[in-house]
Amino acid sequence: MAETDTLRIPVATLEPFVARIFEAAGCSPAEAARVARYLVAANLTGHDSHGVVRVPRYVEMLANGGVIADRTVETVFENDAMAVIDGRMGLGQTVAPQAVEIGIAKALAGGAAVIALRNAGHIGRVGDWAELAATRGLISIHFVNAHGSVLVAPFGGAERRFSTAPFCVGVPRAGQAPVVLDFATSLVAEGKVLVASNGGKPIPADALIGADGAVSGDPRLLYGEIDGTDRRDARKGPGAIRAFGDHKGSGLALMCELLGGVLTGNGPAGPVAPEQPGQPRVFRNGMLSIYLAPAYFGSAAEFDAAAQAYIDFVRAARPATSDGQVLVPGEPEARARAERGAHGVPMPRAAWDSILAAATRLGVPAP
Ligand code: NAD
Repeated sequence: MAETDTLRIPVATLEPFVARIFEAAGCSPAEAARVARYLVAANLTGHDSHGVVRVPRYVEMLANGGVIADRTVETVFENDAMAVIDGRMGLGQTVAPQAVEIGIAKALAGGAAVIALRNAGHIGRVGDWAELAATRGLISIHFVNAHGSVLVAPFGGAERRFSTAPFCVGVPRAGQAPVVLDFATSLVAEGKVLVASNGGKPIPADALIGADGAVSGDPRLLYGEIDGTDRRDARKGPGAIRAFGDHKGSGLALMCELLGGVLTGNGPAGPVAPEQPGQPRVFRNGMLSIYLAPAYFGSAAEFDAAAQAYIDFVRAARPATSDGQVLVPGEPEARARAERGAHGVPMPRAAWDSILAAATRLGVPAP
């Protein structure tokens, strides 16, 4: 696409504008500011798929009851080592940090904690939750699924069975950004197909699979015909996103569904009960999180020094190409943050127009 079709929006403009939209959609000022901060933070890390492109969908879900503003989580069960937490269909950016804080408190008190979160609205970029735990010096591991979002074909299949079921591990480092591995177990996150369908970065040519088993990069396999509006419905396409990494990625996706979906009580991706007229579309994230405090495994300082020495050893591997470099997970996001923080968030005009349209519908003036 032509460079002129992509705007650069400064964070200082984007974040308060998005917050005003969520306030107009019924969120408290504190929640509106938090949702805006996390969405813009996803853009800053380079994950536009989980950034402000989601605003029209979130607003629609607030309007139709698919998510509920300003929820406090309910503790279904807890002891010193674990808790089962119900997000009560609150916005993910509100209920996920509440669940993470419960895990942090238990892991700091006892060395380890397991937290099952069910019935959360879209929790966005899972790396945010690993980063939150890392700010308190904790390692965390997250298995996530999305009930109601059956999008991904298992290895060997040409029909949807999994959600894009992300997996994430965060390891803190003293005085440095944590190492954060955070990815969808699908070849691409659904949001990346959404971005591509809005004129943004194209997806790889083998990311999708048709009902006939042929691979493709055409977003219409997921959304059906794209009609020039900002409306996309991933239930309408005839195809599926492919699981990444052949049998290994497909197996990890299954584990995210079993742990993040079945064990948490969130429910696996599908099957989904038929939609009832007047009822909002079902979508809920489940997340099984494990929190570990390195101090209980020896000393936090020893872990940090040994982990850093090993990371340095890994990064020092001879690059495979003359202009290449070995990075550790989290580095691409840190680089994007520095560049986008300085120069603004790149925004395809079509995505910006759909956010402006959502704002206009709520009576919020364009910035
Ligand atoms: P991706 O394919 O861009 O992979 C990102 C991961 O790979 C990061 O940990 C990054 O640091 C690492 N990485 C990238 N390039 C690297 C390199 N050269 N060397 C070393 N490490 C490198 O991610 P994705 O699958 O597109 O997922 C994007 C986001 O979508 C994630 O934040 C995920 O949590 C989110 N997501 C959320 C949901 C949900 O239901 N809430 C569903 C799916 C995905």
